[in-house]
Amino acid sequence: MTQVPRPNSAAARDVRSQLHPYTNPLALEADGPVIVTRGDGVWVEDEAGERYIEGLAGLWCTALGFSAEERLARAAYDQMRALSFYHPFGQKAHVPGIDLAEKLLAMAPVPMSKVLFSTSGSEANDTAIKLIRFYNNALGRPEKKKIISRIKGYHGVTLATASLTGLPNNHRDFDLPLPGILHTTCPHHYHGAVEGESPEAFATRCAEDLDALIEAEGPETVAAFFAEPVMGAGGVLVPPPTYFEKIQAVLKKHDVLLVADEVICGFGRTGNVWGSQTFGLQPDLLTCAKQLSSGYMPVSALMLSEAVYQPIRDNAGRIGILGHGYTYGGHPVACAVANEVLTIYEERELFAHAATVGPHMQARLRTLADHPLVDEVRGVGLIAGVEIARDKAKRQPFEPAQGVGAALGRHLHRRGVITRVIGDTIAFSPPLIITDEEVDAMVERVALALDDTLAWCR
Ligand code: PLP
Repeated sequence: MTQVPRPNSAAARDVRSQLHPYTNPLALEADGPVIVTRGDGVWVEDEAGERYIEGLAGLWCTALGFSAEERLARAAYDQMRALSFYHPFGQKAHVPGIDLAEKLLAMAPVPMSKVLFSTSGSEANDTAIKLIRFYNNALGRPEKKKIISRIKGYHGVTLATASLTGLPNNHRDFDLPLPGILHTTCPHHYHGAVEGESPEAFATRCAEDLDALIEAEGPETVAAFFAEPVMGAGGVLVPPPTYFEKIQAVLKKHDVLLVADEVICGFGRTGNVWGSQTFGLQPDLLTCAKQLSSGYMPVSALMLSEAVYQPIRDNAGRIGILGHGYTYGGHPVACAVANEVLTIYEERELFAHAATVGPHMQARLRTLADHPLVDEVRGVGLIAGVEIARDKAKRQPFEPAQGVGAALGRHLHRRGVITRVIGDTIAFSPPLIITDEEVDAMVERVALALDDTLAWCR
């Protein structure tokens, strides 16, 4: 971190001018920001020339890493010169948007009928909530509106999507969740299971909890269930075997839609194109963002099945308009870049590469399980979590007031790894281009940071 910034330094100007998301403002004022100035491959560099392995691909998004890809800059430049702005409102369209929609429909894990673009994961999920309301009104079921997500799920930060998000800091003092948004059991076997409960039995219990919640609320009032295939920002939580099979049986029984939030898992993260394929989800709606453009441009997409689309179409037709859309949703420059990103993924066989490096990363991280601080190592493909504990044998976490998670974050940073410590879990979601050797370098640095943290604790 920057030491006592000079008054006109970028750090001092930053502290004076920006309110930072997901940041403790007091820590920012005391220490200043880390100003990242450039990147190449899986590496980024700060103002002082220190280099870091980006263990989280920025915010789980830069699949292609941080090198300036000439082709992507060219795609943006060419599109700006040809048509710098247009939109799909009022029966207009542009070719990059049409191309991208077609590509996504061709890639979808289950047959999907239509794509609606926006600029962020939050907007895509917010749009899903709105269209689900519209859909049920169209079907003459105005009472079927409640939405269920999971404790520790992450779906965004708008009023509605922060309500879906099942994390205390996204609700606290924001007066959330909104009414009609409910949370069910978090499918994390390691902490959620009772003594001797197998992962499969725990999955059954999670599905029974969901069933009981829907029954208690009245199935005629419950519209949809939102789920990330692997829960990312909640601490990288991988569902137990049979979980989604059992959950989907409950949803079918009560005619509740499934929305797969693929904002992190989409585009190769879990070893398949979609997390839905890795875990057997058959969603009615699907949202994606982040790796859709490898973080080069803000773009997200919502896909709808034909069965969801038809009543929306009929109702909007009756009304005369679908009264929803963002000025920058499906921006032609963002779509042009995303089209080129998807082409690069294909040409470089990046999803196959990720499916090969993923098991190596999982195996290397699992070697950390012997460390005195490490409690559980979990993950799939190129997404993983390493959780630390005060007492491994008793699965006893550190008291938050001890600040061990924050200390671990500082030690990781000093050892040249940028990632996020979520509670007591180090999250890993490196660029998909990472090599076995770079995984090894990252894990070696993490091991050193764990040693530093152990020494700090004592
Ligand atoms: N859904 C998931 C699974 C996410 O991880 C995120 C962001 O991390 C979002 C939605 C929200 O996306 P955004 O930050 O682009 O609004």
